[in-house]
Amino acid sequence: MAKDRFGRNIHYLRISLTDHCNLRCLYCMPEDMTFRPNAELMQDDEILTLTRLFATLGFDKIRLTGGEPTIRKNVVDIVRGISEIEGIRSVSMTTNGLLLSKLAQPLANAGLERVNISIDTLDADKFKRLTRWGKVEEAIEGIKAAEKAGLTPIKLNAVVVTGYNEVDVIPLAGLTVENPWQVRFIEMMPFGGATEFQLTQMVTADQIREQVEDRFGTLEVVNGGKLDGEARLFRLQNGIGDVGFISSVTSPFCSSCTRARLTADGILRLCLLREKEIDLLTPLRAGATVDELRSLILDAVWEKPWGHGLADGKIAKNRIMSEIGG
Ligand code: SAM
Ligand code: SF4
Repeated sequence: MAKDRFGRNIHYLRISLTDHCNLRCLYCMPEDMTFRPNAELMQDDEILTLTRLFATLGFDKIRLTGGEPTIRKNVVDIVRGISEIEGIRSVSMTTNGLLLSKLAQPLANAGLERVNISIDTLDADKFKRLTRWGKVEEAIEGIKAAEKAGLTPIKLNAVVVTGYNEVDVIPLAGLTVENPWQVRFIEMMPFGGATEFQLTQMVTADQIREQVEDRFGTLEVVNGGKLDGEARLFRLQNGIGDVGFISSVTSPFCSSCTRARLTADGILRLCLLREKEIDLLTPLRAGATVDELRSLILDAVWEKPWGHGLADGKIAKNRIMSEIGG
């Protein structure tokens, strides 16, 4: 069991399959983003070797992310390989959904349990503006394909950005009236280069909630207000799905964080918003033993920071979200 010095049981690993992406969401990366060469990324067998190692340390929950995980060559085989590892209880994925109309069923057959699909607006023009060239119809087709393939409950993630999609929270929240989905609004977080924009155009969870309540009436608390992962859940008065708020900036959930992140280039990161990293891929490639790698992981987990430092103005500058794995 991997425990940190605060007694948290760290058992949830987010693995980034690639830092590359088929979109350029403006709150995530610059349009002229350069990506790491494939040779610098974990190869398929390296992903499986490291995941096996984590599983022996009690990690039982895996989320695949990126960049965009569905553009990784052999993604279906990687999912199958991970889901067959002893001790892994669940494998899920965060994706922009564009390729799910083709991939949802093969991924489900390979052992993927659920997907979170990021969609910040249902409006085609705004979707294009936010993603720089994405087609919203493809994301919507992806959501339908995921539901059909049983990758449920469907969770949709929306980042709300001042001047781009504040009013779009209404149709997004409204999806939960007829669909048993979770629509989660995420506060934009500041990383590396794009900091100024990310700080000045963030919309808070309270502001989003106020808008939703103005339109749909008072929200009902779900689960007695207990966190579902990182989201606080509510229900519209006539809803069958849930509306969630992920208030990482204004009301962080660090005390209950049980996660670690493995970047596509094989770096272990214990907090999304802290710069400290532990390279696992270089020692793996240099022939480190299983025990040496296990010690590296356990020591890193022990030192997991209590929480991020945004409230003290501390912003992680060494990587942006897509290079960590959101
Ligand atoms: N490409 C996939 C996707 O978009 O779902 C997976 C990777 S993406 C980095 C994971 C999540 O991070 C997405 O829901 C995205 O909206 C969110 N995200 C990206 N940049 C963010 C930022 N600056 N603040 C908050 N969330 C962000
Ligand atoms: Fe790509 Fe996801 Fe970042 Fe958008 S949020 S640019 S889809 S990695």
